[in-house]
Parts: sequence; C-alpha cells; structure tokens
Amino acid sequence: MQSLTPVNHPMPADSFSSEHAFAVEADRCDPLARFRDAFELPTDDRGQPLRYFAGNSLGLMPKQAKDLIAQELADWSKHGVDGHQHGETAWYRYHELFRETAATMVGSLPGETVMMNSLTVNLHLMLVSFYQPDLSSGRTKILLEEPIFPSDRYAVASHIKSRGLDPNEHVLWIRPRPSEHLIRTEDVEQLLRDHGSEISLVMLAGVNYFTGQFMEIERITRAGHAAGCMVGWDLAHAVGNMPLKLHEWGPDFAVWCSYKYLNAGPGAIAGCFVHERHEESPHLNRYGGWWGNDPSTRFEFGEAFDPQCGAEGWQLSNPPILAMTPLRASLEIFQQASMARARAKSMQLTGYLRWLLEQAKGSPFEIITPVDAAFCGCQLSLLVHDAPRERFEAVRSAQMVCDFRTPNVIRVAPTPLYNTFEDVWVLADVLSNHDKGH
Ligand SMILES: *Cc1c(COP(=O)(O)O)cnc(C)c1O
Repeated sequence: MQSLTPVNHPMPADSFSSEHAFAVEADRCDPLARFRDAFELPTDDRGQPLRYFAGNSLGLMPKQAKDLIAQELADWSKHGVDGHQHGETAWYRYHELFRETAATMVGSLPGETVMMNSLTVNLHLMLVSFYQPDLSSGRTKILLEEPIFPSDRYAVASHIKSRGLDPNEHVLWIRPRPSEHLIRTEDVEQLLRDHGSEISLVMLAGVNYFTGQFMEIERITRAGHAAGCMVGWDLAHAVGNMPLKLHEWGPDFAVWCSYKYLNAGPGAIAGCFVHERHEESPHLNRYGGWWGNDPSTRFEFGEAFDPQCGAEGWQLSNPPILAMTPLRASLEIFQQASMARARAKSMQLTGYLRWLLEQAKGSPFEIITPVDAAFCGCQLSLLVHDAPRERFEAVRSAQMVCDFRTPNVIRVAPTPLYNTFEDVWVLADVLSNHDKGH
C-alpha cells in the first residue's frame, strides 16, 4: 500500500454508538470543529440551515472569500493597469501566491504545480504534451477506467481523433470484474503486462467519482512506467480529500478542479501538476501562450516562445484574478487545519457514517465504496435496493443535501472541515428509517 501520512485513529469503530449523545460528544471533542465557522452554511428559503453532504460536487464558500474579492476590486478601482505591479497582491505574479500552498495539497515540489484554467482545459493541455501515439511501434492507445466521468472520456476521444485515429480502437478499458463494483489494482497491473506495449498513456481517476474508490496511485504509476507508458491522473475527487504525494509517486502529470473538496467556488481555477522530470523537456509538444513564457523575458515580446521551467510553463493567458481569489481563502483554511488532521477526522466521520448505516435493519443499501479506509475518502456511494428515489427525496425533505446518480446510487460526502458528527447521525437516521414515517 502506498505510504500515507500516518494519522491517529483515536476513535475506533468499536467505540461508536448509535446514541445521539455520542455524536454530540464527538463534536465537542473535535479539534477541527472551529473550522465550520469559516464557511457559509447554506439555508433553505425560510433561512433554515441545511446539512450539507455535497462537498464532492461543490464545496461551501469560505467566508473570507468575499473580503478578498472586495480587495481585488478595490485595487482594480484604485490602480487600474498599475494593479499588475502595485496593490496588496500585484497581479503580475498572482499565480505564484499558490506555489507553496497548492503544491502542499498534492505533495509536489513548488515548481511542479500551477493553478490555471479549469480541469478539462488542463486535461487537454496535458494530452497535447503527454499523448504521443507512435504508429511505427504500435504504441497508440490510452487506458481509461469504467465508470468514467464523461468529460474525461470526451477529452480523450477528441485527442485520439485529432491524431487521425479511431477512439473506438484506441481506448483500452479497465473495469470492475463481473458482479463487482471496484477496480482491482492487480487487474490493472495484469492488463499493463499483457497490453502495455500498445498503450501510450494511462489516464485514470485518483478517486472514482461514482464509487468513491481511492486508487493505488503509486503502484499503478509504477506499473504503467514499467510498461513504457506515460501516466496521468485526474484528481478531481482526490485533492482536498486525500493526502497525496505526487512528486514521490511519480506520475507524469495530474489535473484537478478546485470547486469540490477545495471549496474555491463554482468553476474555480483548477490545478495542474507536471513532474519535475519534464520541467524542461523541449521535445514535448505543448500549446504556447505568453503567460507560459519565462516572466523575465515575457515583456520583451520576443518572436520565439521561451517556456518557463516547470508547470508554470504550461500557462496560456494572464490569470482571471477575480476568479482565482477564493482559492486563497480556501487554501489558507487547509493550511491552518492541515491535510493530515483533516484526513484523520474524515476517516472518523465517514467511518462513523458507514457504521451507522450498517446498523440499519434489513440492509436496504449496499455501500459500494471500499470498506478499507485506506481506499476511500469522504464519500460513500450507497447502492439502494429498496426505494432509492424515495429515500433520496426523504433526505432532501429533511433539510439535507446529497446527490443521486441514476438508476439507484445516492452519494453522500461528509467533509471534515464543515460537517459534524451530528450531521452524520441525522443523515444516517433519515436514510435508515425513511420507511418508518419520515
Ligand atoms: C468534476 C469532474 C470533472 C469536471 O470537469 P470541469 O472541467 O471542472 O467542468 C471532470 N472530471 C472528473 C473526473 C470530475 O470528477
């Protein structure tokens, strides 16, 4: 198993209790409880607070975001174009504000990570560089997993097509075995041993959006490299959820969005990791733009694109400052709380939710997310055999937010920074007892 930051697990499952008082006490002892107040908690039309379990889709708003955006508006209003060099946070080097903080979130070196664009755009930029099908050797395919998020499928298919190849023939799929829901690492390794020489790029999701499975990134990356493939990861559901060590685990690239567990707002500016070994690779194709040019020569407006060393050399445009600002609020919270402590609480919260749901009489759900806490994060995916829609509606009418994936999966994601043990207790109560008069 890949090495993760060791965390204390002071609340083992055998100490859980289904008494409401247990949840209240767990919240009272929670060292991260104060961070809930750093977020705006959504309310219904009458101002009643909602219990929010959809941080895997859109994280809540850090209260500080408003003031930080107001500051940038004030700088714009006061300085005009001079805001690029003056003001509280000069815009010319604004993206560099995230060098350390964003790198910490994914366990990269500072020069390996840049915040820019949105996830799918970054995936396209990485495919331009890291998908180099070689017809002469027959290494032309991309390995994807099922179930896959549609955007990733579309992005990959469009690249295969743009190289004059047929996506139906040049995607290999790794799937759960029949009657299973999760992907086995040994099956990925076997596929890479059997078909590795046909595969140009392995592109998988770090945490699967549907099942919540946390993949063995390090092991699969090693197997991909051993088979001679490039390896990239979509970390949309992993960043801010799991501690990551991208530099050490060694993939060639990774991309992620910032509006899920990172709480940086709808359509927030996304992240991109390029491993140090590629920081200056002149043979890689890449799309050029002036913001990827070395900042010391950017304003010489030279004829030849002179890319900056490292991930920042993949930037295209000067960044949208107003859209980027909430990231500062969000990453500051993670810095204060620390990902290791967030993960420790997350294991307790999600472990507690699983335990409560497993107490439900008649097992109305099958939790398809891995049982082993090492292989899942916040999210539990509940395959509901009995009245899936009705149960989901019951949760909504009980002032709680989660989501539904047709035909019968309810996804719930208690997050360690703003959810409480009591939130989890109430959710489990409604999910389990909906048929008893809720
Ligand atoms: C959320 C998510 C996306 C969304 O893509 P955007 O470009 O941010 O709209 C893409 N892929 C995966 C795996 C996701 O979970």
